[in-house]
Amino acid sequence: MDNCDLEKLSVSAGTLEPPFKASSTSYKVTVASGVNKITLDVLTSDSGASYRIVTGDGSKVIDLKDGENLINIEVTAEDGTAKKYMIEVTKLSASSALLTDLKITGVLNLVPPFASNVYEYSCTAPFFLNTVILQPTLPDKNMKVCVNDSDVAEPVLLNVGDTLLNVKVSSADGTKAQVYVVVISRMQLPHLVSFNDIKDQVEFECPVSLTALYRPVSINGSDPKHTFSAPYIELLTRRSKVDPLDEQPLRKNWRNPEYDLDKRISAASVRCCYAYRGCSSVLKLTELGHHLKECPNKPPPELEVKIVTDTEWYKTDFASSNKLEFQKKHTLQIRNWEKRLQQAIGDNDIEKLCSNAEEQIQIYKQRLPKSGNCFSLN
Ligand SMILES: [Zn+2]
Repeated sequence: MDNCDLEKLSVSAGTLEPPFKASSTSYKVTVASGVNKITLDVLTSDSGASYRIVTGDGSKVIDLKDGENLINIEVTAEDGTAKKYMIEVTKLSASSALLTDLKITGVLNLVPPFASNVYEYSCTAPFFLNTVILQPTLPDKNMKVCVNDSDVAEPVLLNVGDTLLNVKVSSADGTKAQVYVVVISRMQLPHLVSFNDIKDQVEFECPVSLTALYRPVSINGSDPKHTFSAPYIELLTRRSKVDPLDEQPLRKNWRNPEYDLDKRISAASVRCCYAYRGCSSVLKLTELGHHLKECPNKPPPELEVKIVTDTEWYKTDFASSNKLEFQKKHTLQIRNWEKRLQQAIGDNDIEKLCSNAEEQIQIYKQRLPKSGNCFSLN
């Protein structure tokens, strides 16, 4: 009998990764900082086979230290064939302040993808999204996490451009903290913004694009502060490393994101972009993207026939039996013109008028200077 497989292998804390299968011999388990012992449950496939726990004193209950703990199990078949199973148990340190995972509203992608030991991320959100919910995974239920000093369960309001999120994680024993920084950038509104207050229009205008500041960035060291929309200043400084307003060379870390200004712009009141279609909504700029998606005055994505055929101009000029209305009007205008001419000349005969005109043209042509006699006075 050479069967040296295990039929069962399980642990009292944590979960085996991958799940147990007789042919897999290597597993990982992570346990919380408060777990000091782990108990194994082992059963061989063949009743004639035996197993031995190599780690510790050979007992099924194993003491754990912080960090990595290797547990080896040796299975020997009846005929002496042997096989080794291994479990790597990671006991989290009570002073660890690292997240296992971080998701934003479930669907937004972090760049780079999340890793416990990477602390800075960026993230792009659609223009209509003005709140997000953070979903951090804590390896230890005794750890704490907050976002911008608020409860992590609370939805986070997004600015219309960039929003800075500080995700602060505290270790289970409270001795250590780690901050993960996430900058969420919303896509630019596909419309021009019109502020309700003309003062805002002036204050929040990018001096390069002459439109509302979007993801404002100021130049470090500029005085007074020179602030631009990020996409425009990035484009301008790609080749020439100077401040476009005063041509001063840019310092090494010239880029200064203005999150607070972004917040103020986001709170400014604006008119709906479909005001021209009758929408009278006035709302915060940060809510505009969402409103535009739902606005009852939003034009349909494709031009419907009814939109044209329901207009007054269509009904008067085209809908009535044929489209000759324009031509009729035009003819009428010509008749008016003839009438006025007849009144001026005092003649009713069109033939006569035309021959009169011909005569006038002939006289005019004779009077024109000919080559060689430009200075002739006759
Ligand atoms: Zn609207």
